Amino acid sequence: MDFTLPDEHEMIQDVVRDFAETEIEPIAQEIEEEHRFPGEVFDELGELDLMGVPAPKECGGAGGDYLMYAVVAEELGRVSGAVGLSYVAHTSLGLMPIVNFGTDEQIEEWARPLAEGEEIGSWALTEPSSGSDASDMNTVAEKDGDEYVIDGTKQFITNANVANSVLVKAVTDPEAGYDGISTFIVDPDQDGFEVTTVWDKMGLNASPTCEIQLDRVRVHESRLLGEEGDGWTQTKKTLDGGRISIAALSTGLAQGAFDAARDYATDREQFDQPVSKFDAVRDMIVSMDRKIERARLLTHKAATTYSDGEDVTRLSSMAKLDASEAAREVAEDAVQVHGGYGYTTDFPPQRFYRDAKLMEIGEGTSEIQHVVLGRELGL
Ligand SMILES: Cc1cc2nc3c(=O)[nH]c(=O)nc-3n(C[C@H](O)[C@H](O)[C@H](O)COP(=O)(O)OP(=O)(O)OC[C@H]3O[C@@H](n4cnc5c(N)ncnc54)[C@H](O)[C@@H]3O)c2cc1C
Repeated sequence: MDFTLPDEHEMIQDVVRDFAETEIEPIAQEIEEEHRFPGEVFDELGELDLMGVPAPKECGGAGGDYLMYAVVAEELGRVSGAVGLSYVAHTSLGLMPIVNFGTDEQIEEWARPLAEGEEIGSWALTEPSSGSDASDMNTVAEKDGDEYVIDGTKQFITNANVANSVLVKAVTDPEAGYDGISTFIVDPDQDGFEVTTVWDKMGLNASPTCEIQLDRVRVHESRLLGEEGDGWTQTKKTLDGGRISIAALSTGLAQGAFDAARDYATDREQFDQPVSKFDAVRDMIVSMDRKIERARLLTHKAATTYSDGEDVTRLSSMAKLDASEAAREVAEDAVQVHGGYGYTTDFPPQRFYRDAKLMEIGEGTSEIQHVVLGRELGL
């Protein structure tokens, strides 16, 4: 058992860290305050061949494994949760389902531009009245000749207003339960597709979260992903991968908060000594380090298992649950270590704290991860 990263992964880590520290970190607070999706950052990530890390080279990707993808997501999260969230939504939710379940033609037309960084991807499962119980959706797709007509509303969809394709889940057979759900590749420029809300949030405001309305959107049957009725099975596999990326992003948020806290605690003096010398502050920082190590180990184990093609539901769920909790706790302690300055927007811990909270909600809340883990244990 080797716990060190392979050389190639370390190389990518260095590239991303350097890019993140020079190009993203300096604007991280500004884009949050401006609620601005930084398109230029995503263009540059494309130029660095990072927009399709786990996609095979023949699909336009970098041909990396999920561990490499987790390393990239962590490095982005370490400087900006918003860039990290839009990045993982693009990759594991918008791109990889087309790579995994698409035809050669769909991969060429829709996955390649995403993997090459020409386009941004998005994935629409959640609805206003169905989140945790996602299969209880109201969006329908009715067959009409060689087209489907999609009607419905999707809620909290990351990237929808900047995306070039949105994977929309809809009911094609209301009698068939889980087997009655299908996935469609929708072009947001089509008639009937409208972004009705871009939400103001407690954090992650540089990552757009949208409500979208689909009003008789017509898609050709060639845009059905996989077979009719495959939508729920695809969703479960997609979420296995997606939860690993949220775990990686959470680990990055925690690391960013930790770095800030450790530096501050060694610089800041009270009672004529650095505050890191007080047992209470030292203990907080030691605890942060322990939580991050545990989150990263679980995340890397889940990512490696996923790449090996083994069942990863338990591990991805556990990694997501643990790392998201670690991110929130570590970020909260980082605010505390900064004292009053931690409560100001001049210092990064408040942003990590606000961003971290989403990690316990998106791609299945912590309560739902407990449900998944209980089921995996046969309880
Ligand atoms: C910033 C952001 C980005 C998002 N991006 C996307 C995206 O790109 N695509 C997409 O499809 N969705 C996206 N979502 C939606 C997200 O996945 C859902 O918000 C999440 O799954 C929870 O659903 P809900 O909000 O409807 O909460 P609800 O399901 O209504 O949950 C409310 C509360 O009840 C609890 N609860 C519900 N069921 C159970 C149960 N069985 N046992 C115990 N507790 C339970 C929940 O844990 C929660 O505490 C995003 C959300 C946000 C906020």
